[in-house]
Amino acid sequence: MLRDLARATLDLLLPPGCACCDSPVASPGQLCGPCFQAMRFIAEPLCQRCGLPFASQAEAGRLRLCTACAESPPPWARARAALLYDGAAKGLILPFKHAGREENAAALALHMHRAGAALLAGADLLVPVPLHRRRLLHRRYNQAALLAHALARRARVACLPDALVRTRATGRLGERSAAERDRLMRGAIAVRPGRLARIAGARVVLIDDVLTSGATAGACAQALLDAGACSIDVLVASRVADPRSGRAPRQEEEHADD
Ligand SMILES: [Zn+2]
Ligand SMILES: [Zn+2]
Repeated sequence: MLRDLARATLDLLLPPGCACCDSPVASPGQLCGPCFQAMRFIAEPLCQRCGLPFASQAEAGRLRLCTACAESPPPWARARAALLYDGAAKGLILPFKHAGREENAAALALHMHRAGAALLAGADLLVPVPLHRRRLLHRRYNQAALLAHALARRARVACLPDALVRTRATGRLGERSAAERDRLMRGAIAVRPGRLARIAGARVVLIDDVLTSGATAGACAQALLDAGACSIDVLVASRVADPRSGRAPRQEEEHADD
């Protein structure tokens, strides 16, 4: 009750702002009407493997697999994203990632919970994509870990924030081709030895903010599978529309490296 009172007092003094544009909203972490309208939420029909949205049922076909997944399936079973990574989604994600708007994790987790309900329902553990130590020092927090914690609370699934570790810095992946990214990321991520016992046999959902080429998620999934995880799904706040068609657009660069 004290907490509710404190919240009400705080809201009176400092009304909560839209997670995107700061205009007044009813409760913290919410989006205002126009910002909500601008977001492109991903819904069926979508590729059952990577979550890429199809324009129509006809395009989805009977198998509901995109060409990239049919040709070379990723190491994880299913990936789902709440939002298409466009200008509107960037308005929510970039401040979260670079400008210390840590509270946006709650808004993003809300939509990730909806998009990934089926994945979360069967999960034993949530594991965030790790940042390299140097980057973590610079940014102070791992945005994927904040999302994993927020989702763990919402979906009542255990979270293991330090399960994975970057074994080397990989630099910026954004300027590289999909094949080069895969090659660079191979072996760049490992399961922390002290966490091997928790990973063995677990159904893991890997958490990140943006899915770009899938190279980073793929390296994480492979490390978890090698450590004996039973299954790997991927749940992200946002994904680019066509990540595996070669080079990522320039504006994706700041995301693609982590
Ligand atoms: Zn707004
Ligand atoms: Zn696909």
